[in-house]
Amino acid sequence: MKLYNTLSRKIEEFVPINSPYVGLYACGVTVYDYVHLGHLRKYTMDDVLIRVLRHAGYQVEFVQNITDVGHLASDADTGEDKLEKGAKKYGQTVWDIAKKFEDYFFYSMDLMNNLRPDVSCRATEHIKEQLQMVLELEKKGFTYEIKGDGIYFDTSKLPDYGKLARLKLDQQKEGVRVETKGKRNPSDFALWKFERENENRAMSWPSPWAEKRFPGWHIECSAMSMKYLGESFDIHTGGIDHIPVHHTNEIAQAEAATGKKPFVKHWVHHNFLRVNSEKMSKSLGNFFTIDDVLERGFEPMALRLLFLMTHYRSEMNFTWEALEGAQKAYDKLITHISNLKDTAQSSKIDQLSVEALRLQNEFCEAMDNDLATPESLATMWEVVEAKNLEPAEKLQLLFDFDQVLGLDLEEAGMRKKEEDEVKLTSEVQELLDQRQAAREARDYELADSLRSQIEVLGFSIEDHKKQQIISAVPRGVRR
Ligand code: AMP
Ligand code: ZN
Repeated sequence: MKLYNTLSRKIEEFVPINSPYVGLYACGVTVYDYVHLGHLRKYTMDDVLIRVLRHAGYQVEFVQNITDVGHLASDADTGEDKLEKGAKKYGQTVWDIAKKFEDYFFYSMDLMNNLRPDVSCRATEHIKEQLQMVLELEKKGFTYEIKGDGIYFDTSKLPDYGKLARLKLDQQKEGVRVETKGKRNPSDFALWKFERENENRAMSWPSPWAEKRFPGWHIECSAMSMKYLGESFDIHTGGIDHIPVHHTNEIAQAEAATGKKPFVKHWVHHNFLRVNSEKMSKSLGNFFTIDDVLERGFEPMALRLLFLMTHYRSEMNFTWEALEGAQKAYDKLITHISNLKDTAQSSKIDQLSVEALRLQNEFCEAMDNDLATPESLATMWEVVEAKNLEPAEKLQLLFDFDQVLGLDLEEAGMRKKEEDEVKLTSEVQELLDQRQAAREARDYELADSLRSQIEVLGFSIEDHKKQQIISAVPRGVRR
């Protein structure tokens, strides 16, 4: 498959280091507040990538971290630890906050139908690995100490520092908002921080340099990804905000520690979800959660469909009107599947028709072309509208597509069918029987009049050769 690589700024053919095995690391959330729709967009598109790779036969090992320590308010290694901030805001301990928002993360991810990682790793449970890496960097001469502050990485010691973001060391001064006193270069970053006087942090561990200290934010991702996936692995994902600092520093730490072995082959970055042209974020307070979506009567799968309508490398603006449109489209899709299930039950497809194969090919080509989800959805709708495909064939294609789209089509279609069956009153059934008899007797005038009576009761009919397929008219369409 072809996938954009931030490292080369090109769409490249994805070739795993050790095919069919694919090691994939995704930067996880900082668990200090509720996960919002911006995060969910990023993790849903990660999920689509993982599903596409697995569907193509790769054995993907999916590792995702949980940042529960060390992520400071500013990317320049200053300000309060976000976890400590969350604890104050909610009046709970940092440990309780970490647990509460980790649970909320997985609750949201499950609702979005995002597959769980094979390894979910917390920074606080990998202090030893992070410390070992800093000691290795110290041994190789990449570190220095700022008294009373922490151990820092000297970025001037790594000639290709900043290659991911295409930063030049001498041009970086302007980009750094807050200068830490004592830094040798503006881009140097903290590997290990010391607790300040009277700070009284809840999360601190002893270290060779100071009694109370905690890891910097970037070291956790280098240490944990390499622990689970090896010193060089295939894919690393994150939001575009991570390119200039977090991921740049992950590469620096890893490649300095291993002696310049390439850390990651393929870097995948997701664009933002915005609200009124601002990034949806915890710090701006302009965010909605999955519970806001549920409270307004929308389904998480409608949100997923909405996310898939925009390519992962494009910005997306969130509006409730757009979600309403996606919900209507999802209802239409599920109604169609439920109707197809009635006809397709008995017929089984051994060999797809030429047209079905063409559509299957078109879908795979779109997904293999840097995850072109808007195009793959267009093919999905082409299947829905197709007049020349058998119902069983349509279902087979749609369920196959759904292995990568993850829209829960089979289950949702089944639930809809069961609901409709309950709704099908004896009155409607009687009219249907009369209409079937009229059709068999070729009394089309009577059949048409019975169709109108059935439609008034809120059902629509599709005529097939030997059967009539009845379905409830979807929400919002009924007049
Ligand atoms: P954080 O919890 O801030 O560490 O973010 C976790 C992941 O979500 C990172 O990869 C961020 O880039 C990503 N992210 C945060 N906000 C948004 C947003 N509004 N749209 C897309 N991705 C986001
Ligand atoms: Zn990370």
